[in-house]
Amino acid sequence: MMGEKDKQTNTNREQKENRDVLLSTQTVIGKALEKLGYSSEVFELMKEPMRMLTVRIPVRMDDGSTKIFTGYRAQHNDAVGPTKGGVRFHPNVTEKEVKALSIWMSLKAGIVDLPYGGGKGGIICDPREMSFRELERLSRGYVRAISQVVGPTKDIPAPDVFTNSQIMAWMFDEYSRIREFDSPGFITGKPVVLGGSHGRESATAKGVTICIREAAKKKGIDINGARVVIQGFGNAGSFLAKFMHDSGAKVIAISDAYGALYDPEGLDIDYLLDRRDSFGTVTKLFKNTISNQELLELDCDILVPAAIENQITEDNADKIKAKIVVEAANGPTTIEGTRVLTENDVLLVPDVLASAGGVTVSYFEWVQNNQGYYWTEEEVEAKLEHVMVQSFDNIYKLARRRKVDMRLAAYMVGVRKMAEASRFRGWI
Ligand code: NAD
Repeated sequence: MMGEKDKQTNTNREQKENRDVLLSTQTVIGKALEKLGYSSEVFELMKEPMRMLTVRIPVRMDDGSTKIFTGYRAQHNDAVGPTKGGVRFHPNVTEKEVKALSIWMSLKAGIVDLPYGGGKGGIICDPREMSFRELERLSRGYVRAISQVVGPTKDIPAPDVFTNSQIMAWMFDEYSRIREFDSPGFITGKPVVLGGSHGRESATAKGVTICIREAAKKKGIDINGARVVIQGFGNAGSFLAKFMHDSGAKVIAISDAYGALYDPEGLDIDYLLDRRDSFGTVTKLFKNTISNQELLELDCDILVPAAIENQITEDNADKIKAKIVVEAANGPTTIEGTRVLTENDVLLVPDVLASAGGVTVSYFEWVQNNQGYYWTEEEVEAKLEHVMVQSFDNIYKLARRRKVDMRLAAYMVGVRKMAEASRFRGWI
């Protein structure tokens, strides 16, 4: 069970503000386009995905019954190239969230300069309560349902919350069966033996680590000994905890959906990594936990939300003590939260930049699949390092020059390529 305190806080916040991630993304896109001098037609094109598919997936459950699941695939804008983005399995998936996530993917692709537009998928389900075989049937059913609109040159899925390389492998196998040829370029985040890229699993956290390092330089913070708090201990959060720990930082708190662990002297990250389950849950094993809300407000140097949306809001932004907030999760800070942090001189590295390492290495995986020639982990890491450092630098400088926060600067960079490509195609 989720800690009672966390459950209550989440419900209160959702009820109070009905925080709409799509609306807030549209608001920032509108501001970015205005700053760049684009017309309202460009905003009309970009404010929603160009294509949105809703599917119903019948799955035979282990007890013999049939359950119908609802899934989505959003394709935001394919002016630059095929759309690309993860598939989320979560009970709270909504159409609006999937739409917003697809827009964020377009922005990320623009920021790290990939030949893609943004896409995203989701299925309303709780994989923690499903068996391995039920999950396989659901994954295959989803691919059958969306097979007409996806493909290596159309729309390329990848992992996201509660999906992993095994699920990508089933999806890849199902798609290859439907098309009757091996299609590794259809999906990324696959196991390495099926054409996955070295370094993909840890890529998001690697990208976040690079952003933390660059942001720390700007703030004059030494990573060695810096106190780091991480919300979420899944793919992004757990690899990040390891990288920060290995680079000499003190990871003083981590959390999962059920609560948080805190030790001002630094947590034993290797032990926690060893004990976490495949859904990023570890706190259930401990008696002395704090809530996710308390975790966010801890005294620390660097705070990394790496779990879900709407965690830093006008309710708690004033209480954040970190000097740097680096968003590994998509959409963890609201517009108001961003404003308060910026006023308080907290350096906020936005999601669309900080978590772009995942899609960057997904792109590398797709390139390797298309050429049939595979790179070493060192090659992948060197290429990722180059992309992330350049992108950070570009956005940091733009934010300074235009006197805007890094989120708005990132959106300005992110929308520009898409707008230009749409213009050259004669769409606007
Ligand atoms: P994951 O499923 O591997 O882990 C999610 C973690 O968040 C788990 O520890 C889970 O317990 C925790 N969590 C879930 N609900 C929570 C709640 N209500 N409160 C606190 N913690 C909660 O997911 P992930 O792949 O690590 O993704 C985490 C975030 O990073 C998401 O926003 C995702 O969109 C974003 N992201 C992931 C990638 C990637 O490559 N995995 C890339 C870019 C962005």
